[in-house]
Amino acid sequence: MHIAIIGAGISGLLSALELVEQGCSISIFDQQQAAQAASWAGGGILSPMYPWRYPQAVNDLAKFAKPQYLAWNEKLKPITGIDFEIHETGMLIFDEDDFEIGLNYATQHNEPMQQCDYLNQEQLEQVNPHIAAKFKHALYFSQLANVRNPRLLQSLTQYLKQHPKVQFLEHCPIQQFQLQGDHAQAIQSADGQLHHADHIVLATGAWSQHWAAQLGLEIPVQPVQGQIVLFKTPAQWLPSMCMNKVMYLIPRQDGHVLCGSSMRHVGFDTTPNPQTQQDILTACFEMVPELAQFPIVKQWAGLRPGSPTGVPYIGKVPNLNNVWMNFGHFRNGLCMGTASAQLLRQLMLGQETIVDPAAYDPKQLQPTSICA
Ligand SMILES: Cc1cc2nc3c(=O)[nH]c(=O)nc-3n(C[C@H](O)[C@H](O)[C@H](O)COP(=O)(O)OP(=O)(O)OC[C@H]3O[C@@H](n4cnc5c(N)ncnc54)[C@H](O)[C@@H]3O)c2cc1C
Repeated sequence: MHIAIIGAGISGLLSALELVEQGCSISIFDQQQAAQAASWAGGGILSPMYPWRYPQAVNDLAKFAKPQYLAWNEKLKPITGIDFEIHETGMLIFDEDDFEIGLNYATQHNEPMQQCDYLNQEQLEQVNPHIAAKFKHALYFSQLANVRNPRLLQSLTQYLKQHPKVQFLEHCPIQQFQLQGDHAQAIQSADGQLHHADHIVLATGAWSQHWAAQLGLEIPVQPVQGQIVLFKTPAQWLPSMCMNKVMYLIPRQDGHVLCGSSMRHVGFDTTPNPQTQQDILTACFEMVPELAQFPIVKQWAGLRPGSPTGVPYIGKVPNLNNVWMNFGHFRNGLCMGTASAQLLRQLMLGQETIVDPAAYDPKQLQPTSICA
């Protein structure tokens, strides 16, 4: 079976990986260089930030993130030589209004944040000595990890590019399908070329609304800009991730610390904004004042594929027998990525599914009044 995947972010690359491992041949298209969009820009926390604020369908996918990334890293590392560092730092949360609900959620579900403890000030200082004195207590999710997502993408692209059954077509924007009845025979790139495939997967992230007219469906996916400021501290300087009022710090193993993130509706603009940078720094220095002594080495912004509830669309496009979706992961595409791709592969190949697919079914998308 030959499958064309449009979009080489985490959703497209992991879909390709799942399908190629089952013997499918893959052509993967991206309008720019592969693996440079939201999936590169993200923070890599392997859980929704406050799981109890999300629909269960998000957490049902996210809970597989850590074990599945650990397994993929084990498999790919010897072949690619790239360790994408699943860094189990744990996370401190300082939002007092979330303490009770967070502890209750963890007791009931245990996933995706796993172990959850209430820390008093003494315990807090032991876990992370750099926290500002004004924080007298915290919730601690000690087993929560982050993944070094740029390296994860590098590992996936390197593995797939050397695979004999995978073809990469970068800088190749796909504009439309060539339809015959309920079957897409081919996709057409901007240069007019037709690319034939048995099945087509749309993994086009924040750009997914592009397909609405041709599919005759409302696709409520909007780009939502998120900005990150990157510091360099000594290795292992900050021992845990920290979060307060939806702002976070994420330490990498080599001492880089990512600070973010914002939410702005500015179309497809990825220019970092000075006021947003200031807001991020204020929130992060409030948690860890000593961070201000270290240099900022980079900042950037990326476009999340914002869907109404954060639940992605995964499954077959209604009324077409060979076009599939895997997009709309909003703030959690890295942590939902492995299970989303697995679910897509299971649906495409008629296999038993890892979760009930109903919550993600594109059938829920409303028809548009104007069809192409
Ligand atoms: C600042 C920030 C922080 C984040 N932090 C986290 C986090 O800590 N944890 C987490 O789980 N998630 C996080 N996210 C969210 C996560 O990054 C996204 O949900 C995820 O990357 C979406 O992946 P994707 O593959 O669907 O989209 P993308 O990575 O954007 O990939 C889509 C690809 O499709 C290509 N494309 C689109 N249209 C076409 C076309 N017509 N033809 C060819 N190619 C096309 C694009 O060029 C792009 O490469 C964060 C996001 C941001 C911006």
